[in-house]
Amino acid sequence: MRESVSIHRSGRAVAPYNGSMQPRRKTRQILVGDDRTGRVAIGGGAPIVVQTMCAGYTWDIDACVAEIQRYKKAGAELVRVAVPERKDTEALKSIIPQVDIPIVADVHFHYQRALEAIESGVHKIRLNPGNINDRDQVNSVIDACKERGIPIRVGVNEGSIIERKDKQRRMEELGKYFADHRSGHLIALMITKLEEYLDIFAARDFHQVVLSAKSMDAALVIDIYTEIANRFDYPLHLGVTHAGTKDSGAIRSVVALGSLIANGIGDTVRISYASDHIDEVKDAFEMLYCLGKRERKGVELIACPTCGRIQVDLFTLVKEVEKTLMPELDLPIKVAVMGCIVNGPGEAEGADVAVFAGDRRGIIYVQGERVANVPEEEILQRLLLECKTFEARVRAGDAKLGEKKVSILPPDPIGELGSGHAKIAAGFVEQVTVGRT
Ligand code: SF4
Repeated sequence: MRESVSIHRSGRAVAPYNGSMQPRRKTRQILVGDDRTGRVAIGGGAPIVVQTMCAGYTWDIDACVAEIQRYKKAGAELVRVAVPERKDTEALKSIIPQVDIPIVADVHFHYQRALEAIESGVHKIRLNPGNINDRDQVNSVIDACKERGIPIRVGVNEGSIIERKDKQRRMEELGKYFADHRSGHLIALMITKLEEYLDIFAARDFHQVVLSAKSMDAALVIDIYTEIANRFDYPLHLGVTHAGTKDSGAIRSVVALGSLIANGIGDTVRISYASDHIDEVKDAFEMLYCLGKRERKGVELIACPTCGRIQVDLFTLVKEVEKTLMPELDLPIKVAVMGCIVNGPGEAEGADVAVFAGDRRGIIYVQGERVANVPEEEILQRLLLECKTFEARVRAGDAKLGEKKVSILPPDPIGELGSGHAKIAAGFVEQVTVGRT
């Protein structure tokens, strides 16, 4: 046990700092998949699972298979497909054997689609309690899933929950409990709906359940999942629904999901917005990498935002670096692309491979050691070469990720990098002059 206690300047003892991230919430664990696809664990301490959903028609078998394979290649661990019609569940019989990733059938309105999807070999069912109201119908899906060991996600969405007369009292009780919350009525409604459904599952002794409660309101998503996490021990599927365009949707999703995950809540995530679903998968992983919840695969790129000191076309360079390096490198190499010497040396020291630019030139560092000073047009190729060489050395055991060899001294701003840095030098002189007067 750590004993160390530091003393604050006020003289008070300060407890050792253990970080602000909360430990993962303990949940039951469910397994999705079979011997052929492998089984993906959700909850119970398993790594947070990234999933996405097909955008195309499930009945279009070849296109659906190709879409699923693209997502799998991008890192998705589960893929959901919509099955609104009989021809969709029928298509699953051909699709599932052609893909090596667990498939989830998304069922709305028609419980028969769930039964057909189960017959077709699907690995998980998503049911929306708001739009299958007949208890016997739900029971028949539960029994079929139980027989085959298939889990069910119970997903209530803000837009599809329906007030039920027989739950009015519970609603009123919960309504009072959440009365002071801006979305209290909605939270009460979603919790009531989940409770109602979980009673049906419990009555049939079925516990292979994942819960979700999505909204397009990021703040409500944080509140509703926090409340669910306090009340149920099932694993949680996090998502902001209909989050918008790629730009706004990514922010909305990451604000809500990132906050929950930092608080220890969440076992599988789907980021969703109106764009290529490959982007959702990439954004979900980036969020999890940033929170330290998944081990990074591939390059971690650091880049400066540029400012009036910039002397190269950094935006183009960074895009090119990303496009060139990402497909070429598998290891989580930290690569920094910096516009000038102000932050360049610090990043060069912290990154495995770094370039900081001067007047149409770039100085390249590997593990803090300078290895090249090249003209702007050669930066990209040289950086790629150094990254590949470094990756080969790491694989061979001759170098370690995240290990710096030297502390960097910034180069002479005027001499080595060119006259562009006269601006910095002039600023420095001015500062000194002001300080002296
Ligand atoms: S690294 Fe240099 S160019 Fe980039 S933002 Fe910082 S000061 Fe500006």
